[in-house]
Amino acid sequence: MKEFNIIERFFTAQTQPRQDVMIGVGDDCAITTVPTNQSLATTTDTLVAGTHFLHGTHPSDIAHKALAVNLSDLAAVGAVPAWINLALSLEEIDEDWLDDFSDTLARLCEYYGINLIGGDTTKGPLSITITAQGFVPPESVATRSGANRGDLIYVTGTLGDAGAGLDTLLGKLDCYAVADLSHQEQASAEAFLQSRHHRPTPRLLAGTALRRTISSCIDISDGLLGDIQHIMKASQCGAIIHVDKLPISEHLAKVVSPEQAMTYALSSGDDYELCFTLPEHNVSELETLLNSSNINFTCVGQMVGGNELSLMHHNMPYTAVSEAFEHQFIVQASSTQS
Ligand code: ADP
Ligand code: MG
Repeated sequence: MKEFNIIERFFTAQTQPRQDVMIGVGDDCAITTVPTNQSLATTTDTLVAGTHFLHGTHPSDIAHKALAVNLSDLAAVGAVPAWINLALSLEEIDEDWLDDFSDTLARLCEYYGINLIGGDTTKGPLSITITAQGFVPPESVATRSGANRGDLIYVTGTLGDAGAGLDTLLGKLDCYAVADLSHQEQASAEAFLQSRHHRPTPRLLAGTALRRTISSCIDISDGLLGDIQHIMKASQCGAIIHVDKLPISEHLAKVVSPEQAMTYALSSGDDYELCFTLPEHNVSELETLLNSSNINFTCVGQMVGGNELSLMHHNMPYTAVSEAFEHQFIVQASSTQS
């Protein structure tokens, strides 16, 4: 199968066309229109086999993650997604793989109301680059740089699940070895943690609901410990994080010690939750917005003066076990591929 046929069969007209796409897949460029009074938000993320996902990961999971990590970036600035581009590097033409990958991508595009408008297809080591674009009113853009000292720090959802899920895949964490749990509890913990690793949920609703209420925002891709420092640096503030307040899922709490759960929540990657700050006087507005959209959120700390990050555990200084997560450290133990 030639490049042309792959595009034709797997990536053309898979979803309901959007009105703002004049020309999508098939010409030299996609031609689209941005609504008046909106700014265009653009982001790109690449997933490389063996670095960002394990060799042998199911193509549906790869498609899900490749899209979700990009939509998560749009969520962090408060944008509503509209279009994606897909640059695909494939070792070989595997039609079953392409079927599963493109079906999942199309299903998710349909779900989010977005269109695949172009891309590139080449031969090479398996890698998936998605560029996502969306709209945000220029006056409502959430950035990393707007936090002020005194602002409260919040996160959505629970932290550390994806990192623990990766460890179950790498054989570093065994849910079935946890005593005092039924086989059913062990199985559902493993399934939950692995699904959080493979299929992160971009917090798009939270991003758009909050964009006018918050002072800064980032999506947590490399662990809270590393990512809060991006807000600190951009906003020229210090921060205190109360590690005993970190939201831990029931499943994670069942399979690791409280200490290990805190370490996962602080330092493991791929959560794709939002971390955001806001002045204390906006808290009741935040609660109204998030409760009415059924989004879980937890206050985990406060921005302070200076430029230091302090961790506290029940108001006592706490030393983190590890630094921020880096994706190049995910090397598959059993794989000889690089
Ligand atoms: P060109 O050589 O002009 O860059 P290509 O032959 O690479 O064009 O691509 C033909 C058309 O198919 C273009 O519209 C391009 O955006 C689209 N395309 C190529 N690969 C993909 C892909 N993996 N997913 C979606 N669209 C793709
Ligand atoms: Mg090309």
